[in-house]
Amino acid sequence: MSFSLPETFSKLPRYPLLYPSPSPIHPLPVLTRNLNRNLNAAPAVSLFAKREDHSSPLACAGNKYRKLEYIVPDILANSNLHVLGARSEAKATTTLVTEGAIQSNHTVQVASVARRLGVEAIVILHKATGGGLAASSDKNAFLRTGNVQIARLLGAEVRMLDDSSTVDDGDPITPILEELRAQGKVPYWIPSGASLHPLGGLGYARCAFEIAAQEKEQLGENSRFDYIFVACGSGSTVGGLIAGFKLLQKIEAQTQQDGNAERVISRKVIGILNSPTKPREYHEGRVLSFARRAAHLIGLDPERDVTPEDVHLDDRFAGTAYGALDPTSKEILALIAQEEGVIVDPVYTVKVMRGVMHWVQEGELTRDWSRRLGTSPSQNRVNALFIHTGGQSALSAYADIE
Ligand SMILES: *Cc1c(COP(=O)(O)O)cnc(C)c1O
Repeated sequence: MSFSLPETFSKLPRYPLLYPSPSPIHPLPVLTRNLNRNLNAAPAVSLFAKREDHSSPLACAGNKYRKLEYIVPDILANSNLHVLGARSEAKATTTLVTEGAIQSNHTVQVASVARRLGVEAIVILHKATGGGLAASSDKNAFLRTGNVQIARLLGAEVRMLDDSSTVDDGDPITPILEELRAQGKVPYWIPSGASLHPLGGLGYARCAFEIAAQEKEQLGENSRFDYIFVACGSGSTVGGLIAGFKLLQKIEAQTQQDGNAERVISRKVIGILNSPTKPREYHEGRVLSFARRAAHLIGLDPERDVTPEDVHLDDRFAGTAYGALDPTSKEILALIAQEEGVIVDPVYTVKVMRGVMHWVQEGELTRDWSRRLGTSPSQNRVNALFIHTGGQSALSAYADIE
């Protein structure tokens, strides 16, 4: 399967980290059957999963590799174009530096990319970020197993900090970069989740085109993934998807003006928040800015083509704390494992699935669909796509799951 990107987008440099074929999309037949059971109202909702956890041969495949594909060319050029002591003279990067919570998936993916590029990685893990460590009944294990173990296996230098300050507020990072420079090294800083990086949204803008191509192949010409549910953590996954689908929508609208195709309702991207720390409005602002930044780079008019109305975030499933696995989420993790044979992760995708199940079971999705469709309910099936962004490698740190 191949797909093409519009010219401006296709010219942006990308370093392949994913498999050459798209990550698979498959139906979730048991969940689809069970969730529709109590829904008397048509249309039925069909659930599918896009397996970003099967996107790359690199360690613990997940959504960060897609973002990093567009960042690696900048690492190799070492323009360090975003923050923290950008250097004018071009010297080859020696060390990737990044940060996250203790069981961060992002830092493992950066560590693995460092191996691929033949450079070092320093991974800064914040003990106070989120509630995973605090809620753990075996703190010693939480600090050593799961993603921490894997980062070390990948040869990353793991540094744990007690406070939770990030570059956003206090700044423990600059001294580390200065220390490296004093040793003659050339560090390259990748912010948490790569979202604040100016190129961080491009990977998922491209993913929108990949999904549209798979949709055509798997659902046929006249159906689409009407709803796309994805985790919203640092925000550039959902932001990138919004930008990519807006560009697609613009292209599709032009094709329609040229004659054929009937009017189709645009796909709706819904970001499920997994942390109650900051209010939804904070995330909406960030996601909008990431979507606009990507939109600008791929050839859209960021202000006109991407608006606050394109950003849909749901904060009802964030639970008690980032990284804390509450009893309901535990049940859902087991339910999906036992119904579909699919393992979701304890931090992000379990909360997304909780959201998806709620939207379907409570009839919210079909009501929203009817509202959007207006007076012509011609479609008797709605397709919803759950993006599985990976993260199962954190599970062993949550060993008290039974
Ligand atoms: C990082 C991550 C996310 C969130 O992606 P953002 O772009 O930070 O919003 C979702 N799922 C998993 C498994 C992740 O590791």
